[in-house]
Amino acid sequence: MRIRTLLKQCQKYKSFYFSREHTEVIKEQPSLVIEIEARKNGKPICSGCGMVGIQYDRMPNTRDDQFIPIWGYQVYFRYQRRRVNCKHCGVKVEQVPWCEGKQKLTNDYKIHLAQWARQLSWKGVADAFNTSWDHVCQSVKYVVSFGMENRKVENIEAIGVDEVQHGKGHQYITLVYQLDESTSGSCI
Ligand SMILES: [Zn+2]
Repeated sequence: MRIRTLLKQCQKYKSFYFSREHTEVIKEQPSLVIEIEARKNGKPICSGCGMVGIQYDRMPNTRDDQFIPIWGYQVYFRYQRRRVNCKHCGVKVEQVPWCEGKQKLTNDYKIHLAQWARQLSWKGVADAFNTSWDHVCQSVKYVVSFGMENRKVENIEAIGVDEVQHGKGHQYITLVYQLDESTSGSCI
């Protein structure tokens, strides 16, 4: 089975497809590069307002967004983003479904790192996946902000509050836990 076939089964991005794959060394690490292309009939989406727009041109270079590593290879999605001529925002870079903003980590990789960060220290996760502490931090922030936007607090009756040191110096994060009998202390 080809890697692309495998990926297609777990990652479905409407309007895009995996076109090629090859290995190369990126940042001194063996890497698997999966190239992505937009389907001909797929219109680009404006990253400013999320509306469909008309293609203006393409960015001069491709961009590599990191996906979940496999078999000792770092994995990157490589894609040359289009620019959209948006009637609301002017000319903007398109929005892609696997990645948000300027962070070069795919959403799936961020969720993967954040899940491991519940089991290991952030440094432990960074070491295990040959990535940086900052990437783990970005991943946890991504998942926490997603949770904040989609949280449901109606049924919570008991909470615990804790403060943990974050990074160097006197920086702290406030952790709030749900402590109802029915839960095992989930972080909200
Ligand atoms: Zn727009």
